[in-house]
Amino acid sequence: MKLVTFDDGTGPRVGVLDSGGAVVDVSGRPGVGDTMLEVVEAGESGLDAIRAALSSSPARPEQAVRLLAPITPRNNVMAVGRNYHEHAKEFSASGFDASEKKMIPDHPIIFTKAQSSIVGPGHTIDTSMDPSGTSDYEGELGVIIGTGGHRIAAADAFAHVFGYTVINDVTARALQAQHVQFFIGKSAATFCPMGPCIVTADEIDDIAAARLRTTVNGEPRQDACISDLIFDIATLIEAISAAVLLQPGDVIATGTPSGVGIGFDPPVYLTGGDVVEVSIDGVGTLRNPVV
Ligand code: MG
Repeated sequence: MKLVTFDDGTGPRVGVLDSGGAVVDVSGRPGVGDTMLEVVEAGESGLDAIRAALSSSPARPEQAVRLLAPITPRNNVMAVGRNYHEHAKEFSASGFDASEKKMIPDHPIIFTKAQSSIVGPGHTIDTSMDPSGTSDYEGELGVIIGTGGHRIAAADAFAHVFGYTVINDVTARALQAQHVQFFIGKSAATFCPMGPCIVTADEIDDIAAARLRTTVNGEPRQDACISDLIFDIATLIEAISAAVLLQPGDVIATGTPSGVGIGFDPPVYLTGGDVVEVSIDGVGTLRNPVV
């Protein structure tokens, strides 16, 4: 199923994006809950409740509602730096990675984005939030944790995946470089567009086979296969949960492939009037205008 959070004027509601492009409102139906976090926490029984409610719930055209970020996690969005080989090269060559010791890391580089940076599909990315004027896009696959856990083995990791979404890990490059730690450069308000939906894990046979593509104003910028990840999804979950207690609804942005704005010489930053689209096969297209 493709699950969405939407606003019809009465506040955030949970819905299902059907194959005809309609949003079916299942919020508050028996066993479903009112937020995506409640749906994720309910696990398989929550998904069964949604399936049971589908045929008797009201549907609206997607255009008649406003899609929001599909989930607001309890914690910051966890994210991975330098996790595609070609991007590791371009990032290294750009000189913007103040943390760099090795071009290809021995262990995943994990940072977080403030929860307050999350916005939904269609929402504007506001570059005025970045005082350095160096805002850049990073198209990424987002993994939504279902059942939480501590010390999850890679072999068991996919049993903890609720589903997938699309994330744009928008970054203020100069802040990323000057503060050494990535948090400030990654956390400006509106710098974490997410959506349009969460595709439940059962819908995707092999996420590694999916392609990710990013365009700016229709111009192709990023095009890579998820299988090109240096540290794959199972390895990331094992590495993070070795220390961190993962909770239902936690979001992991798995890293971006080559083709970001700082890969150009000179760098090309986002400016007002741009439109960024990130697409992942089987998951969807996240489209955000820039102001
Ligand atoms: Mg990133």
